[in-house]
Amino acid sequence: MGEGELTLLDILDGKEPSEILGLCYRDGDKVVENQPRPRIADLDTLPMPAWDLFPVLKYRINLPYGTTKYFMAQNTSRGCPYRCAYCSQSLGYTFKGLSAERAIAQIKDIQSRYGIKKVHFYDDTFTIKSTSTQQSKPFSNSTR
Ligand code: SF4
Repeated sequence: MGEGELTLLDILDGKEPSEILGLCYRDGDKVVENQPRPRIADLDTLPMPAWDLFPVLKYRINLPYGTTKYFMAQNTSRGCPYRCAYCSQSLGYTFKGLSAERAIAQIKDIQSRYGIKKVHFYDDTFTIKSTSTQQSKPFSNSTR
């Protein structure tokens, strides 16, 4: 439940399920829901995506709207303070974004590895703040 990176790390480290924040699991006939895991305070502390460990090109998806250019998805932020009734956003009501430098590094990484020319941003609220990563000068200058 919530952000999965640190929860998954605890599972892979073999921690007892009952000690893992953010985990929901079966214990016999019971469903156990642990305490939620606090949000990751600084998304830049997460390692860069390890694309080399994943067969990215097996999952090529073409853009809709008639173009055939290959694209890759990126998330540069998580969360949204709004509560639209139809929304499935589940990573909290607080917006947190990567730094502009980190977001650009991730995009440049996929550009250099796979020759990607198009990126789809799957952020909950990509343009929420004028001070957010996405609207900062380094980001807007570097991603045209
Ligand atoms: S992510 Fe978008 S649709 Fe969902 S609650 Fe926020 S503003 Fe509404």
